[in-house]
Amino acid sequence: MTAAVIDGKAFAATLRARVGELATAFEAKAGRKAGLAVVLVGEDPASQVYVRSKGKSTVEAGMNSFEHKLPADTSEADLLATVEQLNADPAVDGILVQLPLPRHIDEQKVIAAINPDKDVDGFHVTNAGRLAVGQPGFVPCTPLGCSMLLKDKLGDLSGLDAVVIGRSNIVGKPMAQLLIAESCTVTVAHSRTKNLADVVRRADIVVAAVGRPEMVKGDWIKPGATVIDVGINRVPGAEEGKTRLVGDVDYASAATVASAITPVPGGVGPMTIAVLLRNALVAAYRNEGLDLAADAV
Ligand code: NAD
Repeated sequence: MTAAVIDGKAFAATLRARVGELATAFEAKAGRKAGLAVVLVGEDPASQVYVRSKGKSTVEAGMNSFEHKLPADTSEADLLATVEQLNADPAVDGILVQLPLPRHIDEQKVIAAINPDKDVDGFHVTNAGRLAVGQPGFVPCTPLGCSMLLKDKLGDLSGLDAVVIGRSNIVGKPMAQLLIAESCTVTVAHSRTKNLADVVRRADIVVAAVGRPEMVKGDWIKPGATVIDVGINRVPGAEEGKTRLVGDVDYASAATVASAITPVPGGVGPMTIAVLLRNALVAAYRNEGLDLAADAV
């Protein structure tokens, strides 16, 4: 069997176009553009790239992007004051504080300061709680993107056995909640799981969010399963001095067994920003008290 490739890049492009249409409709109704604020503390090169790319994508989707770049030695109090200012600003619908923060700042404290109705990353405990009890809120972008890809590929997920490898607050745990909400039978595996290969072999759906290059092998996969690879790992490339990106799944062997699989790059990765834009747009509609159908985007 050769697995179908789940084209996250194409799906993300369609989602971004849809967000763009709805952002134009929002502007006509609200008399202003939807706005997403991104706060970056320090000069971490990877974070700078993410923030630039988020800002560009936000503008392309017809929304305002407010970038707040603060020096690495910004105090926790000053960062909290910036968050408070954005909470109070009616032009700002969504707030994203780029992680990781410098070590002298307590990340949880900063996340807790964001108004949950502007928390488009879905990291606030209020949004984690809303997800757990099935209330509308904001769901972290990467797992929500994975869930969209799965539903697009498989339709109804009800009754399927799903194994999520990884239990982080950002990916693994919210992914498990989303799959429970879709009526899957969910197992969450992690660094202490015994006989991981046997656990994964039970799954109709495998979501790998570990951060270990090509750890999940083809002979761990049940024939016909659907594999979502969240991992982004940089490893030495074929040429001296060059690197390449690989996932947490050994793509070559898994693709001979699975029925569908996300590639790295071009699978889950492009979904994350597209879902962030989607969350910002939803925040804007909610903040203005405007209706947006649950299945609109
Ligand atoms: P994390 O380090 O917070 O969590 C990793 C999880 O993997 C932990 O829960 C740990 O228990 C589990 N784990 C570690 N070793 C294991 C092992 N040997 N067997 C089983 N489980 C093991 O990472 P994260 O933030 O959840 O990210 C996971 C991966 O996803 C990383 O590669 C990251 O780069 C990637 N990621 C991608 C996107 C995207 O946009 N595509 C977004 C977020 C994270």
